[in-house]
Amino acid sequence: MRRPSTIAIDGPAASGKSTIGGLLAERLGYLYLDTGVMYRAVTWAALVRGIPIDDEAAVTALARQVKIEILRPTVQDGRSYTVLVDGQDVTWEIRQPEVNHAVSPVSAYPGVRAALSAQQRRMGRKGRIVMVGRDIGTVVLPRADLKIYLDATLEERAARRYREVVARGEQADYEQVLASVRRRDEIDSNRSVAPLRPADDAVVIDTTTLTIEQVLDRVLALVDDYGRGRRQSVANREENSS
Ligand code: C5P
Repeated sequence: MRRPSTIAIDGPAASGKSTIGGLLAERLGYLYLDTGVMYRAVTWAALVRGIPIDDEAAVTALARQVKIEILRPTVQDGRSYTVLVDGQDVTWEIRQPEVNHAVSPVSAYPGVRAALSAQQRRMGRKGRIVMVGRDIGTVVLPRADLKIYLDATLEERAARRYREVVARGEQADYEQVLASVRRRDEIDSNRSVAPLRPADDAVVIDTTTLTIEQVLDRVLALVDDYGRGRRQSVANREENSS
């Protein structure tokens, strides 16, 4: 059966896209690229180098020169992949609150987006890839074979993020996590370049009340539909209501 070769998964923070993207790529034997990692890596590099986040020119220059590598896990400590910035392992550092706070402003800079999107597009061109982010279906891979947009209520997404942080053995406060996710949603949705939104031909899945297995089943059904030529007959279908 024919399979979609390029699969774009977009959605807001903690909508389940990284988990689902990783599982889907594993099932299909495809490459998995979580593009949020790249924005986080640039943000982390700016913070450690003392580059002010509001210095657009300096942050953009950094995005053009910094070397980001995403590899198979090099350490068995619960990570799904290893992230290197100029050779340094920053897999966990890029998940810290300081990075969460600064990443959306950094991602709003057009030059930063241009530098990272170009790298993402190069990887997408090879096919057999599941790419996850905010603008994959709209900007990076507008001709992706299958586009999925995962969503969930703000409260549910904050609760998921809170549980993730606690599971890593770190301190967390639910209200703070909620405020941080809300702020990122606002910046990501309202920026002028590549704002967060579903592509017109994306299938939207509301994951609020679904388990990971249920979401994966729906996504795999969409992959099968593609093979049967039944994919996306109705643009922007609301999966949950069908
Ligand atoms: O997906 P994740 O939460 O790790 O992404 C971190 C941030 O990177 C997002 O809040 C967003 O500002 C930015 N991002 C983006 N475009 C992408 C992926 C992530 O602007 N394709």
